[in-house]
Amino acid sequence: MNFYSLNNPKIQATFKDAVVAGIAPDKGLYFPERIEPLPKEFFDNITALSNNEIAFKAIHQFVEGEIPDDVLKNIISDVLDFDFPIVEIEENVATLELFHGPTMAFKDVGARFMANCMGYFSKGEKTEVTVLVATSGDTGGAVANGFLGVEGVNVVILYPSGKVSDIQEKQLTTLGQNIVAMEVNGTFDDCQRMVKTAFLDTEITDHKKLTSANSINIARWLPQLFYFLFAYKQASSKGKEMVFSVPSGNFGNICAGMVAQKLGMPVKHFVASTNVNDVVPKFMKKGVYQPVPSKATISNAMDVGDPSNFIRIRHLYQDNFDALKENLSSYSFSDETTREAMKKVHSLSDYVTDPHGAVGYLGLKEYQKANPDTYGIFLETAHPVKFLDVVEETLEISPEIPPQIQKVMGKDKKSIKISTYEELKTYLLEG
Ligand SMILES: *Cc1c(COP(=O)(O)O)cnc(C)c1O
Repeated sequence: MNFYSLNNPKIQATFKDAVVAGIAPDKGLYFPERIEPLPKEFFDNITALSNNEIAFKAIHQFVEGEIPDDVLKNIISDVLDFDFPIVEIEENVATLELFHGPTMAFKDVGARFMANCMGYFSKGEKTEVTVLVATSGDTGGAVANGFLGVEGVNVVILYPSGKVSDIQEKQLTTLGQNIVAMEVNGTFDDCQRMVKTAFLDTEITDHKKLTSANSINIARWLPQLFYFLFAYKQASSKGKEMVFSVPSGNFGNICAGMVAQKLGMPVKHFVASTNVNDVVPKFMKKGVYQPVPSKATISNAMDVGDPSNFIRIRHLYQDNFDALKENLSSYSFSDETTREAMKKVHSLSDYVTDPHGAVGYLGLKEYQKANPDTYGIFLETAHPVKFLDVVEETLEISPEIPPQIQKVMGKDKKSIKISTYEELKTYLLEG
């Protein structure tokens, strides 16, 4: 299948070329030329299928002709070697736990899928590819873990010094091999600016193949539709219309869920839940999209002032605002309300949510006020220990540290400290 640039549908690329480039030459995001619904029997009989079979059938059309079926099967079984349980915490309210992977955030799925695809595509290629990525926390760890040891691919991760949690820092600075962590004296926005400058710097791109590993890349974005299907499989016996509430920052995750719906998955509605970074909730009210600088919150993986994937969501609905509104609601919540929700869920259901999951819970409850006869699933996008400070001070508990995390906490941090773009450039050119 081909993918076209959202800036100009005439600019097209194969799956492979779109993955290796990350973004179209005109800086547009790539979008699949077709989304062919799966047969109705697929959904009727979904409980008889394994997760690997579901994922294979769902992604097959997008990679056909580029990745042979047996390779795709191996990739999928490598990516999905952990659980995606839904846990019911109240009547008609369940959470989809996406934190059972190696770095304990949902980004493991997309990062591992992309790493496997890049590994396959770089076999037999003479030039190495450099994945350059800026992280505010979770992306870095998932990308580092996913790409570790992938031949023909080097990874350079930029993170803002002192602004990621201890656990997150360890996850991206302790792996070594083909993973290099750059500790930037600045903010996440500074890191992102450096990465963007490098992509436009022909003195670098003439010598080096650079690609991104954030949800702009179709190999990171699309596989995120898998676990919406796994949730549907688990909840299909409830006999109620389903609603998904997705804690959203760059809107890649929720957009993948909406692609699952276009594949025919029966869903009544999506809720995009945000913190006070409320560009999309405002858009859904007034139909005007106005990006602003991001504000810092306790759910910092969603501190995004200009969500990159929202254009893909609008495109799914041919920019028809009324049609989009039928299927998507969006609500914004303050840190204070988020902490109250964490406390409420903990005391009522004895369940610990991280601040992102709590925002998802709030959005779902808001929607269910007017739509009580639905089965609601909110995504728990990270394990609560990844946001340990907030969880400890809000709930006054000390959650147990899982083995995946304990393993990295004992390792030594290795990073290259930089303050300017020139230092990044010198490193990329000279190694
Ligand atoms: C990245 C992230 C999000 C936001 O996901 P998007 O796809 O950018 O909307 C939400 N929660 C956590 C924990 C994350 O790491």
